[in-house]
Amino acid sequence: MRLYSTLQRTKIDLPDPPGPIRMYFCGPTVYARAHIGNARPFVVGMWLRAWLRERGYDVTLVHNITDVNDKIYDAAPGASAELAERASQWYLEDTGDLGLGMPDEVPKATEHVPGIVHFIEELIERGHAYPAGGDVYFSVSSFPDYGALSGRVDENAARNPSEEEEQSELKRDPRDFALWKAHKEGEDTSWESPWGRGRPGWHIECSAMAEELLGERFEIHGGGIDLVFPHHENELAQSRALGHDFAQIWTHNGMLRFTGEKMSKSLGNTVTIREAIDRWGRETVLLFFMTAQWSKPIDFSEETMAQAAAQVETIRNKLRYPGEPGGDWAELVAALDDDFNTPDALAVIHRWRDRDLVVRALDLFGLGSLAGEESAPAEVVELAERREQARELRDWDEADRLRDEIDEHGWEIRDEASGFRLVRKQ
Ligand SMILES: [Zn+2]
Repeated sequence: MRLYSTLQRTKIDLPDPPGPIRMYFCGPTVYARAHIGNARPFVVGMWLRAWLRERGYDVTLVHNITDVNDKIYDAAPGASAELAERASQWYLEDTGDLGLGMPDEVPKATEHVPGIVHFIEELIERGHAYPAGGDVYFSVSSFPDYGALSGRVDENAARNPSEEEEQSELKRDPRDFALWKAHKEGEDTSWESPWGRGRPGWHIECSAMAEELLGERFEIHGGGIDLVFPHHENELAQSRALGHDFAQIWTHNGMLRFTGEKMSKSLGNTVTIREAIDRWGRETVLLFFMTAQWSKPIDFSEETMAQAAAQVETIRNKLRYPGEPGGDWAELVAALDDDFNTPDALAVIHRWRDRDLVVRALDLFGLGSLAGEESAPAEVVELAERREQARELRDWDEADRLRDEIDEHGWEIRDEASGFRLVRKQ
């Protein structure tokens, strides 16, 4: 099994099973319902865990939630903690509804402040960080390998754009970035520290939590390609400055792009995970993510979602009328062991006619449900319930009319001893 790593700029072989394979995938900053693009690192992480387990690895996946951040303060002045709590719940519900299970650990920054403070103290002791006016900054010039991940080594290119401008005069070098930020008026959360009350910077939370939960050296670090700089460059610097090996393989998923006129105009690039599941169903959303290799961009549009829905239907039909046993699991292994190529895996699944093999593969991607009976949409269930009532009232004409209406929706109602059953018409 091998995966493309941003750090080495090539595919890197994983150790032999059982590993262990310890993975840390950066999660969202929580201040609103998460955007459909935020689902991609979650989905890739969960699929990779499922596949590695299938291949006999002992896998642990950590996926953090950033619940203290300027974006959250800005979104809910004076009540950021409540918003972060609520939005964390939304994220867990919405990703949970994708039906892939949950990561092994979902740590929140605010629950790991003592470990973060300890990490910063060590960086100061070793001369890699300095306190200034209640803040603490990482000293980029103290770490000669800075820039190895992103390739940004030029001073101007390596300025940290995510840092607040008003703090810049406290920095010794414009490339330096905040590890700890002094409490500011209006911020409703803060913690005690050796440098006064304040709160952790964004980058340090991931170094501290990854090492606390996975150890100083672990196998895979994931997240969106937009996090390479400065977030992941800074994580790597913080940890390696202390002599820790940190992550070996750096996997960065491509961005989700809104394309197609209708999608970009009417929805304004703000489709949430929740809205996508409600509109297309979780199976179509998952199949859509399979259509692009994880490191490549993926285009989200009315057309690509319709194509994904059509593929879901094709697979459902295949499972209704399976063919002769045959096909070879090794084909799927070849696709996924070489940089986890899900479009190739999908092509293999489409080719196979053996029901057992297809279901075994679909299960890895949370799509095993395609083999089960499809549940009817709410409006069809409602028609069926109204028909039941009509029958109880012996209004046979109305009952027949409702049966026809259900039929027009593409469903057949079957009366059974225990009530009715809805079956999609073939
Ligand atoms: Zn992170």
